[in-house]
This record gives sequence, structure tokens and C-alpha cells, in this order.
Amino acid sequence: MLKDTYVRTIYAGNAVQTLRSSDPVKVVTVRTTSFDPTAAEGGGAAEEKLAVPEAPKNSEFVGQELSKSDRPELGSARVVISGGRGMKSGENFQMLYDLADKLNAAVGASRAAVDAGMVPNDMQIGQTGKIVAPVRKHAGEYSNSHQFTRPDTQL
Ligand SMILES: Cc1cc2nc3c(=O)[nH]c(=O)nc-3n(C[C@H](O)[C@H](O)[C@H](O)COP(=O)(O)OP(=O)(O)OC[C@H]3O[C@@H](n4cnc5c(N)ncnc54)[C@H](O)[C@@H]3O)c2cc1C
Repeated sequence: MLKDTYVRTIYAGNAVQTLRSSDPVKVVTVRTTSFDPTAAEGGGAAEEKLAVPEAPKNSEFVGQELSKSDRPELGSARVVISGGRGMKSGENFQMLYDLADKLNAAVGASRAAVDAGMVPNDMQIGQTGKIVAPVRKHAGEYSNSHQFTRPDTQL
């Protein structure tokens, strides 16, 4: 790859564009699932300790709620089961959870299913949700829109 050359998706993920930017300052985003994981040890990055600035007075940390699941994490799962608006209710997603448990798969959902309040938004897959890179994806009651399907995934 030539210097200052980048690859990005365009037309809502339907085409891949390679471009070169001569701008002195570039703001780039990285799709972590497009790269092999690096070794957990042996890195040589410099470590710098910084003083934590005082929190602004007009906001306050109240707490955090982390969703916990025994299933694989959506972003790195090899198999993803995903439900769309046609699932009709959050209760019906139980069918997908049961199937996912048998296949050791993660469960995701379309934006339409999330917007309809069937499942929480951390399950949303796609351009405006989580980027997934499964080897195989099973979709239930989906319209197969391009915003959540990567071209190299087996559907
Ligand atoms: C800029 C932009 C970004 C977007 N980003 C995302 C994104 O990141 N992720 C995302 O998911 N969407 C995204 N969307 C929305 C996306 O385009 C689709 O509208 C949405 O994903 C459709 O979801 P769906 O397939 O669940 O719903 P629908 O399109 O309503 O499809 C449901 C399907 O289920 C079928 N069905 C219904 N009932 C049954 C039944 N009983 N049995 C069998 N089949 C049934 C229907 O015939 C239909 O084909 C984005 C849209 C825009 C414009």
C-alpha cells in the first residue's frame, strides 16, 4: 500500500474505495475486525503517566450498567444469529437465543428491531451499530439490507 493511501467503504457499504490524501492532518477511523489480533505481549509502546484533571462541576458520574452475556461478543463472534423486525417482539428473540446457545453464536439485531424496542441497542449490527465479522451469519425475519451485511460473510 502506498503512503497516505486508505481504503474505505462508500455508498453505504456497497463499494470499496481506495484513496490517497495529501492533507497534513488526517482523521481516520479503523475497523478493528478487519485486522488480525496482535500479540498480547512484546509491544514496545512508551508508557506515559498523566495526572487526571478534576472533573467538570456541571456533570457527575452516576454509574454504569454493563450488559453481561455468556455468549461470544458480537464484534468478534465467528457465528452471529441476528433478528429483524419480523421477529415481532422481544420475547420471540428467545428462539434466537436458544439457537445461539446451541451454535455458540452471538445474537444481534437489525436497527428496525432495536428501534421497535424489541431488544437493547447494544445488539444492533451494521453501519450504525456494531461491526461484525463472522464467518457465518444466520438472519431471522430480515430484509437483507446492505447496512448490516459485509460482502465476505456467508449468509
Ligand atoms: C444511513 C442508514 C444507516 C443504517 N444503518 C443500519 C444499521 O447499521 N443496521 C441496521 O440493521 N439497519 C440500518 N439501517 C436500516 C436498514 O436500511 C433497514 O431499514 C433495516 O435494517 C431493516 O431491518 P429489518 O430487516 O429488521 O426490517 P424490515 O426491512 O421490515 O424486514 C423485515 C423482513 O421480515 C419479513 N417478515 C416479517 N414477518 C415475517 C414472518 N412472520 N415470517 C417471515 N418473514 C417475515 C418481512 O417480509 C421483511 O422482509 C440504516 C439505514 C440508513 C438509511
